[in-house]
Amino acid sequence: MARNEALLRKTQERELELLRSTSLTQLFDRLIAGLMNSYQLDGVYLMLHDPQHEIRHLLSGDGLVAEQLQGVRFVDALVTIAPQLAHLERPWLGPFHKADHELLVHGGARPGSLALIPLRRHEQLDGVLVFASLDPLRFTAELASDFLAHLGVVAAICIENAVNRARLLRSGLTDFLTGFHNRRYLHARLREELARAQRAQQSLACLMIDIDHFKRINDQHGHLAGDAVLREVAHRVDAEMRISDTGARFGGDEFAIVLSPSTMLDAQKVAARVLEAVRSQPVSIGKSAAETVTLSIGVAAATPGEPTRDYKVLAERLIAEADAALYRAKSAGRNRIASSPNLVG
Ligand code: GH3
Ligand code: MG
Repeated sequence: MARNEALLRKTQERELELLRSTSLTQLFDRLIAGLMNSYQLDGVYLMLHDPQHEIRHLLSGDGLVAEQLQGVRFVDALVTIAPQLAHLERPWLGPFHKADHELLVHGGARPGSLALIPLRRHEQLDGVLVFASLDPLRFTAELASDFLAHLGVVAAICIENAVNRARLLRSGLTDFLTGFHNRRYLHARLREELARAQRAQQSLACLMIDIDHFKRINDQHGHLAGDAVLREVAHRVDAEMRISDTGARFGGDEFAIVLSPSTMLDAQKVAARVLEAVRSQPVSIGKSAAETVTLSIGVAAATPGEPTRDYKVLAERLIAEADAALYRAKSAGRNRIASSPNLVG
């Protein structure tokens, strides 16, 4: 009785801790390391059904590589990991069988017994939480599994909530029309990139890009045609970026790209490619019309010198310099690139 009471209390505490997690990574850590510690297990593994790679993408938005998360695995189909998962309605407790369970546990010594806890939401299996013990008698079919079933339900709800929260956070940083990041994201990212550039003693650059006479397209062809042009321009700009560059829609018809690392010379080359990629081919508007679109681009670069606690000021100066260069490109006749002198922060 007393042991059951203690177990129940411990489980309630663990569940509360899971429910209080504020991010996917924290939740994963509490599920794996947290449960391993509090139940003194020899291994805890989490297998998640992620056929669209969505959870992995959300994690990479946090700067994490899903493959590096200890104990967590993402799979396209759970049954390919262990056939018995096809019918796992309730926790299963029993001896470890290499042929059946090999793919559920990874790394560490061969367990003696396992508990497979289904994570179910909305009538479908979203994943499985695996408790492993070296002791063959730790998990046996006779053991009461109600508390594990309850833990599974709570864990599934927590994962669903954390994924939803990460989705929301992501959508708050993304421009709906073009799929580019928005201004808020770019500001945050630019500060991180400046800190990184400072540590690596590199420079980085910023391009500020604005469509020339965009109002005319709206006026002549309508707002929806204008939207389509914005999307196509974003698409062509995106094609000229490297994976380490960050693009954002800065406002109406203005885009910004942070090139990291990059010298002024590299950035001017990218600007020339972007300019060409957009003006070389008319953009289709509806079925019958097409318009040649030109851009004006301002380029600025910075080499952060001394480390500071916050790169907000330097980030703002860099953007202001790129903006000033853009303004000069506009007043010099549009359809061109202008640069600002390199900033040393
Ligand atoms: P300039 O060469 O000086 O840049 O001339 P411009 O006509 O492009 O002037 P400006 O950049 O100031 O105008 C941007 C226009 O973009 C104004 C606004 O009505 C329009 N706009 C802003 N957001 C959207 C949008 O989401 N969709 C569409 N279709 N138009 C937008
Ligand atoms: Mg414009």
